[in-house]
Amino acid sequence: ETVAELIARRMTTTPDFPKPGILFRDLTALMADGEGLRRVTDALTSAMPADVDAVVGVEARGFLFAAAAAVSRAIGVYPIRKQGKLPGPLLSETYDLEYGSATIELQPDSLAPGSRVYVLDDLLATGGTLVAAVRLLERAGYVVVGVGVAIELAELGGRTALGAHPVNALLTIS
Ligand code: IMP
Repeated sequence: ETVAELIARRMTTTPDFPKPGILFRDLTALMADGEGLRRVTDALTSAMPADVDAVVGVEARGFLFAAAAAVSRAIGVYPIRKQGKLPGPLLSETYDLEYGSATIELQPDSLAPGSRVYVLDDLLATGGTLVAAVRLLERAGYVVVGVGVAIELAELGGRTALGAHPVNALLTIS
């Protein structure tokens, strides 16, 4: 079974969560299984370039993938958090959601400028979250060498929104 088949088989799909009209894909059960966690981590890690200094995780599910991948590579993990969770000094980015907006933040003093970073999240939809994450990292002086997700919802255009940044998705749903 490929990792894409494993994710497709173990993913749960919940209609109308967290809002009417949204089909919510979730990997909680797969990540709670030791073998599933290992397969997903290995697949995400093996797609990362060789010379990465830290893995960035986007709150909250991205933290799980980023920490696992960072340990597997023996490099650091660096969080991008929702507004109000990190003490300053901070950089922040606000981006549009389907309804309203969201703000994410990072603490640039915690990782050396010029560091090469790889960004992980659980799922790529419109790309709004990861585009804002990349912008934040570049404003802080980091080099974003790529982006990885477990699941890509291809029709929502996230890969195009990320432009030249290479995206690795373990399972692409069209
Ligand atoms: P985007 O910003 O539109 O690409 O949405 C991606 C962000 O929203 C990620 O941080 C995901 O964790 C979250 N998200 C969007 N849709 C889903 C879903 O179906 N399942 C789990 N997370 C989702």
